[in-house]
Amino acid sequence: MKRVILANLAQETCSFAPTHHSLESFRRYYLLFDDEIIPQLRQERMEPAGIIAVAEAEGIELLPTVASYGGTGGPVTDEAYFYLRDQIVARVRRFAPRADGAVLALHGAMVGESVDDTEGDLIGQVRQALGPDKPIVVSLDMHAHITAEMIEGANAIVGYHTWPHEDIYETGMRAMRLLGRILRGEVQPVLAYRKLPMITPPETHRVSQKPMSEVMGRALAAEREPGVLAATIFATQPQLDVPNLGWSSVVVADGDRARAQAVADEIAEIAWRERRNFLHQRTPVAEALRRAREVESGPVVLADSSDGTAGGGEGDSTVLLEALLQSPVPGQTLLLIVDPEAVAACVEAGVRAEITLPVGGKIASQFYHPVTVTGRVKTISDGVFKMKVPTLPADRGRTAVLQVGELFIVLSEKPVYTWDEECYRSVGLFPREAKLVQVKSPGGFRPVYEPFAKEIIELDAPGPVDSELTRLPYRRVTRPLFPLDEM
Ligand SMILES: [Zn+2]
Repeated sequence: MKRVILANLAQETCSFAPTHHSLESFRRYYLLFDDEIIPQLRQERMEPAGIIAVAEAEGIELLPTVASYGGTGGPVTDEAYFYLRDQIVARVRRFAPRADGAVLALHGAMVGESVDDTEGDLIGQVRQALGPDKPIVVSLDMHAHITAEMIEGANAIVGYHTWPHEDIYETGMRAMRLLGRILRGEVQPVLAYRKLPMITPPETHRVSQKPMSEVMGRALAAEREPGVLAATIFATQPQLDVPNLGWSSVVVADGDRARAQAVADEIAEIAWRERRNFLHQRTPVAEALRRAREVESGPVVLADSSDGTAGGGEGDSTVLLEALLQSPVPGQTLLLIVDPEAVAACVEAGVRAEITLPVGGKIASQFYHPVTVTGRVKTISDGVFKMKVPTLPADRGRTAVLQVGELFIVLSEKPVYTWDEECYRSVGLFPREAKLVQVKSPGGFRPVYEPFAKEIIELDAPGPVDSELTRLPYRRVTRPLFPLDEM
């Protein structure tokens, strides 16, 4: 029986977020060790479950090490990154004599406090511990920032084919299937990549729409060609401030490096040719509220990606709250604001108490300011809930719902994804019945909200995850870089 080491470590960094991502932040979704991993992750539709399903079907024994999904946030603290890396590497070293290979489910855009390329570093350390001849297959998010170190350390890299990301589980399956074929001697993977000096707003990464459909379409077509084992376009998390940032195409071919390079070049050239079509305009907040007023009934979804908790934002923007207080929209409005101090004040005051307090704007304070409101504490809860898209346990710390007239503000201690309705339903609020619903995401919410939203409006607001990239204070990216420079 073949034996494969399994490790899973994923976090998406925003370099412009004011806080660092601690080990505690990795527990917001899951942080598991050894024998905890397979029973707990088997049912979640994430990469590990896909890996587990294929390994079991193919009779491959998994040797689980560490599994953590940290969501998004600022750069990972050295303490957290080195701890997690060393925990993984120690186990790889222990398993190495009896392991035939390793599968690593990573993200690709996790930047550390002092390590720019954590994934390249981790893959290199796993390679050292495992030995030079055993295959390592890596799965990454479509927003990975690919580096030479990742390509050097891995035998094969596969990535998501969708955005919004709906094939996370399937990507785990593809990684494990490919590793199975390598272990059985059916294929000999060779890797090639092509880096592009371009970053683009995530709003335009929807694979169902041009121009992304053309780029991804070529990658998918290549995967169906004989001799190509995997072909991926990595559109890259743009809010990273690291050298050599940019899109990449990565191709794994069977034994033919020139072929892998030719296909990688071809996919990259389509992306580069289309670069200007990836630029994107959102709607100013005042205009969005004007439009929302004109929509009969609801819900109207207001997507604030600049404070996006799906991209490393702190979730504490008060821009929409302030605009609504100045220029109300009739009907129930659901808002999300991260503010541990405000939560503590609500807990202190108690359910049904009326309080006046400043909310939000205290963490990403270079972009936002607190807004003082008077409201009634409607509920207080533990903030633990189960996301449905993807299925993921989430913990946003203590959570209070503060009612300010027709505004229902969900105040939480920590940020979480806002892709599905559970972030509201878990505290007794129902997006389908509201007039306005705020989400903090550039598009991951669309599969859930599109079927019932009357309208979806993307807000042009400031923040650390601003997708108007020319407004962000990049210092370390390699220039020239489109669209920061005319290219
Ligand atoms: Zn992504």
